[in-house]
Amino acid sequence: MRVLTFGNETLRQKSAPLENIDGETGTLLAEMFEILEQQKGVGLAAVQVGIPRRFFITRIGNDLPRVFINPYITETSEELADYEEGCLSLPGLWGQIIRPKMVRVQARNERGKPFTIDADGILSRVIQHEYDHLEGTLFIDRLSALKRERLLNKYGKLKNKK
Ligand code: ZN
Repeated sequence: MRVLTFGNETLRQKSAPLENIDGETGTLLAEMFEILEQQKGVGLAAVQVGIPRRFFITRIGNDLPRVFINPYITETSEELADYEEGCLSLPGLWGQIIRPKMVRVQARNERGKPFTIDADGILSRVIQHEYDHLEGTLFIDRLSALKRERLLNKYGKLKNKK
């Protein structure tokens, strides 16, 4: 399992619902948490490791590891927040993105149990970022054309150095 990076067309796919939550899902989730740990990320969507299904994981600091399967964002706050985002699929790039400050999410956990969570702060931000991945959207899509171009130029330079 490896993290797909910008330019890989799979990242642009809209993910399909996950039909069965079974042992195979458990194995995938364990591998995804391992990658998150290794790469010091705070969230990872299945599509980023080449599995275009609707689920993602989060782990922020000492917060619990969380699993969101077939999630829906059912409410967003009118209040907005500005926050610097990065992405394991765009290593080395960071951009200021404005999004709703708080979200309410319904999803299933790794055992298939439905839950609802009201998220604020970094968790809210990571959920919205990961949810975007399920729709084939990357954080750079939410920047102005000019800022996006600047970042991608920088990304091209970073990549060529390797
Ligand atoms: Zn990302």
